[in-house]
Amino acid sequence: MERKQFKTEVSELLHLIIHSLYSHKEIFLRELVSNASDALDKLKYKTLVDGKSPEGELRIDISFTEGKERTLTISDNGIGMTHDELNENLGTIARSGTKHFIQNLSEDQKKDSNLIGQFGVGFYSAYMVADKVEVTSRAYGSEEAYKWTSDGKEKYTIEEATRDTCGTTIVVYLNEEGKEYANRWQIENLIKQYSDHIAYPIFLSYDQNTYDDKYNVTGTEHKVEQINSAAALWRRSKSELKEEDYNDFYKNTCYDEENPLFYIHTKAEGATEYTTLFFVPAKAPFDMYHADYKPGVKLYVKRVYITDDEKELLPTYLRFVRGVIDSEDLPLNVSREILQQNKVMTTIRNASVKKILGEFKKISEQNPELYTKFIEQFNRPLKEGLYQDYANRDELLGLVRFKSTAVEGYTSLAAYKERMIADQKSIYYITGSDESALRNSPLLASYKEKGIEVLLMTDDIDDIVISSVGKFQDIALKAVNKSGAMDDFMTEDEKKQVKEQGSEITEKLKKALGDKVKDVIVSTRLADVSAVVVSDENDPSVQMQQVLKAMGQGAYEATAPILEVNANDSFVKKIVASDDEEYVANAASVLLDQALLSEGVMPKNPAEFARKLHALLG
Ligand code: ADP
Repeated sequence: MERKQFKTEVSELLHLIIHSLYSHKEIFLRELVSNASDALDKLKYKTLVDGKSPEGELRIDISFTEGKERTLTISDNGIGMTHDELNENLGTIARSGTKHFIQNLSEDQKKDSNLIGQFGVGFYSAYMVADKVEVTSRAYGSEEAYKWTSDGKEKYTIEEATRDTCGTTIVVYLNEEGKEYANRWQIENLIKQYSDHIAYPIFLSYDQNTYDDKYNVTGTEHKVEQINSAAALWRRSKSELKEEDYNDFYKNTCYDEENPLFYIHTKAEGATEYTTLFFVPAKAPFDMYHADYKPGVKLYVKRVYITDDEKELLPTYLRFVRGVIDSEDLPLNVSREILQQNKVMTTIRNASVKKILGEFKKISEQNPELYTKFIEQFNRPLKEGLYQDYANRDELLGLVRFKSTAVEGYTSLAAYKERMIADQKSIYYITGSDESALRNSPLLASYKEKGIEVLLMTDDIDDIVISSVGKFQDIALKAVNKSGAMDDFMTEDEKKQVKEQGSEITEKLKKALGDKVKDVIVSTRLADVSAVVVSDENDPSVQMQQVLKAMGQGAYEATAPILEVNANDSFVKKIVASDDEEYVANAASVLLDQALLSEGVMPKNPAEFARKLHALLG
């Protein structure tokens, strides 16, 4: 028997694991099973290269002993390890990534069990639950077997042993912390949670009591049962899967009763290898608008479950997407922080976003009915993407949809563009909270008259998003309830004329209304009404200000609107002609409040409005 000392980084790692991962000690089983699965992969590959086939079914076996000495045994018939490999693999930290990872952790991070607990740290994690671990291994193609034994402190031993076939058997001698794992249900639960999609079957052997018809124990029966589904549906090729398979998988793994609207299954090969399977649910997840929403995509590394709590796997505006990302290239023990800066992860994320948006586009073109269902649920998050994801803004502009004065249902910006009339300079829209109020806005009358379509935007974020976008292709997007929209319909001369003609009206009204308005302007577009309210180009619309207030933004300070008056209207003419100061004050105030009302916005002081209106009528 040889006795050896661990290399220093192993001691360091052992210490770190044992002292910082306690709250996640169960991950040891995931790590050991994943090592076994790797060993089976390697054997499969090796025999393939050698033109042979493996002896017997490739599998992982788990058994346990209860009673005084509690042990857990994980055995595989994979590639195995030679004497030297046992020494190198289990006596040093082979993978430089792990070493690097540990060296880069600050003292605080080392104490943060969550940080590393999420990702695990390989074989050595067994020492969280064990006093001693024995690894008996016989390498593929070798007749000899060796047993590596250590208490995980400083030293280990290697001695000759026997094993019938190639592969590795790991016996974990459970300590006080780990005794709970010598239990059938515990093992089954952990395997289901972490290792359900491992490619190879995992069998659990256990003894079960047998009973007579009076429920007296008559003896025990030995059972061997497969406890994982070994399905990893996403790893199978699209051609062998039916829609039903996808739907079943979705409902079982994403906890939805309804079938998804559609799914996107992609296998990427080349520099970065990964598989993704995304689902779009039929209904928006209930927590889609909660700040602490639960992300819907699970990360796997080579079929081993890593996390479902990583919001960075997809951009937030795609938070309704469910499914799986399975990478071939990420290490199992990548920390959350490293994950966020990881090149492989960035590649997968960017490609996934492109793929998902591309699929949305395809559906919009090929299956408009399905796309409408999709838009009814997810239009708003897509709009968030317009200001979150600059790189994909053009794609997203093609995907978002709007209600409109010209068509039933939804329209795209491209379709609007097609319908633009000759000489139309911009794409017009109006924002507010209530579609029917918007449809009746007096602002729209002049557009209707000219045959110009106006988009009706009722999402709370429209104002901010659409003004930040500014353009569709090379056409400006203009809010008709903002001051700038009028310009399109005037020549320079006309603008000058309006300014001069307007000065008397505007001065008088401005004086009468004081800080209730930001400005008063003379309109060139109003026909049947005396005045409307619009907002300054950079302010939210008056309708939107109401939404912001309702959203409980207590500190929200509304900005005064701009009053746009119709100089040809008789009421306006009467105000301008009057010398009675009290009349002018009351009439101007009513003029402003009724303009607000027409946009579905409550006047600041409704009682005062009613009183003044009454006085005027009297
Ligand atoms: P890793 O993350 O590389 O798996 P581990 O500490 O878990 O790190 O294991 C170290 C090495 O030991 C592995 O890379 C592998 O070469 C070897 N090893 C571990 N378990 C087995 C096994 N069941 N069969 C064959 N080799 C194994």
